[in-house]
Amino acid sequence: MSLSPASAALAGLALGAGVSGLGVALFLRGRWLRESRRAVLLRDELARERSSRAESQAAENARQQALFENMLEGVLLLDAAGRVQFTNTACRRFFDLEADVRGRTLLEAFRCNELSGVAVEAARAGRVNGKELELEVGGDARLIQVNAVALVGPEGRPDGVLMVLHDATRLRQLESTRREFVANVSHELRTPLSLIKGSVETLLDGAASQPAIASKFLDIIDRHCDRLTFLIEDLLTLSRLESGQLAINYDTVQLRSHVADVFDDFHRKAADRGVGLLNEVPEGLRARADSDRLDQVLSNLIDNAIKYGRPGGSVRVEGREAEGGELIELAVVDDGPGIPAEAAERVFERFYRVDTARSREQGGTGLGLSIVKHIIQAHGGEVRLDTAPGRGAAFRFTLPAVPPQPAGK
Ligand code: ADP
Repeated sequence: MSLSPASAALAGLALGAGVSGLGVALFLRGRWLRESRRAVLLRDELARERSSRAESQAAENARQQALFENMLEGVLLLDAAGRVQFTNTACRRFFDLEADVRGRTLLEAFRCNELSGVAVEAARAGRVNGKELELEVGGDARLIQVNAVALVGPEGRPDGVLMVLHDATRLRQLESTRREFVANVSHELRTPLSLIKGSVETLLDGAASQPAIASKFLDIIDRHCDRLTFLIEDLLTLSRLESGQLAINYDTVQLRSHVADVFDDFHRKAADRGVGLLNEVPEGLRARADSDRLDQVLSNLIDNAIKYGRPGGSVRVEGREAEGGELIELAVVDDGPGIPAEAAERVFERFYRVDTARSREQGGTGLGLSIVKHIIQAHGGEVRLDTAPGRGAAFRFTLPAVPPQPAGK
């Protein structure tokens, strides 16, 4: 048994005061027991504190790990020697890295000179903002924006570089789609406008006084005003569909009679081209759809089939149940020249035409099939094209079915 300095001093004091040897021994033993109990309590307390600190540190680490792993941005940390210390999942995905690259130099790990250049520049200048890297990953072009900042350790020593990477590929695609769209719209507006303007100028220059010539130019003005109206209507429809503003008002649609009604609007146009219209939708087939929007879909497809199909040919609308009665598939089928394979993939794009001159001559806006696709998708359906050059075109689309009515109802 060893005595603490305080106990030894106390023992000395007790002896000095003439207390008996046994009394002193009992006194010291009691004191020793109390001190060791206190020491044990203190040790337990410290151990508990240490373990709770370790637990909260582990929880904090797990939180940080989850945060980094679930970030859409890539995070890359380099140490002062330029070696990779940490990468999160997004960062590894951007560069298609599978292996653990910790401890490697940036160039070894990422094989990207530009990224290494960003690290060097950040270490030198303190920060790099919005550097864009064009990458080719797994055969796909990718645009990555990088922000990097140099880290400073105690006493101002350089302590590595932290980079945050953002995948801007989709943003760039959207931007280029937007630009292309604006360019297309401007072009589509400018063409009829310049024809209208030219005709008006010719009339003002004297043609107005020659009735035969004047009526020719008035006819041009009339046609191109119509074209502008159709274009603006189609643009507005498309914009409402894309922004989800056009609500779908579901109703039960009797498909055979619905097709017959749409055919009524086209009898004259079909007759002008000697095209026969055939309604092959079985009686009793019903879909859950917005009747006005379905009208728009059928009108666009039937109009195209008459316009681009074979003069003297036929346009059929077929219907059947699909997916065990869950869906209805309708098809607008013509026996015209069909669409080449490379164009068939693109006809649903805005302003895409197989034959631009032909489409314009027919008063087409190049937006009809794009509108069809949006309307069908808004109903949860799909649209596809079966075609082969010289073998006609069949535009097939699905809609939710309404179960057949029980007999007697
Ligand atoms: P448009 O206003 O030009 O008709 P659409 O989006 O309706 O625009 O159609 C896009 C293009 O697809 C048309 O310009 C035409 O070249 C082609 N196309 C559409 N339907 C048919 C069809 N039934 N047969 C052949 N080509 C077609």
